[in-house]
Amino acid sequence: MSKKIVIAVDGFSSCGKSSFAKLIAQRLGYLYIDSGAMYRAVTLGFIQTGLIENGAVKRDNLLENIKKLEVGFSFNPNTKKHETTLNRIVVEEQIRTIGVASLVSVVAAISEVRERMVELQRKLGVDKGIVMDGRDIGTVVFPNAELKIFMTADPKIRAERRLKELVEKDQVVNFDEILANIEERDHLDQTRDISPLRKAEDAIILDNSYMTIDEQMIWVESLVVEKTNEATSEK
Ligand code: C5P
Repeated sequence: MSKKIVIAVDGFSSCGKSSFAKLIAQRLGYLYIDSGAMYRAVTLGFIQTGLIENGAVKRDNLLENIKKLEVGFSFNPNTKKHETTLNRIVVEEQIRTIGVASLVSVVAAISEVRERMVELQRKLGVDKGIVMDGRDIGTVVFPNAELKIFMTADPKIRAERRLKELVEKDQVVNFDEILANIEERDHLDQTRDISPLRKAEDAIILDNSYMTIDEQMIWVESLVVEKTNEATSEK
């Protein structure tokens, strides 16, 4: 029987990492975890409890405040999808707003937040058979992942895709605001001190600016087979 592997998908904001990772997981019968959703849920929790002031997180009692936030996932049998929860309440919609998006990189740069999320992410991956997407999955969370993919795409194309998504959800936004948010997040994610966004040495680059999701699946299929075979033949 072939062994299960860990697939780490990292890359820039709004590259389609989630759609890509979700589809691989679905095809392989693997667990899919959106690590960005976890940082978004913490951000929402901080906003709800008044811990963010003028775009900065209040440092007093930070650790206790983080511990009060229980981030998880629950399966919705109606939609057949896993939804992000915060203190057991489904927050899938609330974490996708521009309000959360504009603060999440600040929250994700806090070491106490990252330590807690990484611990949780590793627990979710102990049995392998997982596809996780994020910024530091191949470098920090699962440095021994059998398959690492680093996704990138032109920022303007990413902003267009995001605009379409938000308009479909009836959110009032404009292209320039989204592009600015994407560029700002790229910058913050790449320049932060802890776990900055960078390509793991052994990650394979996928630039999907001009690729459909089907083309991306064809691209990844042979890699999955190769890495699974390697893992299975290892003693
Ligand atoms: O992937 P998504 O855009 O939803 O992630 C939201 C934010 O969470 C990112 O901009 C980044 O600041 C942070 N993040 C992170 N590490 C991860 C996943 C996301 O710092 N593994």
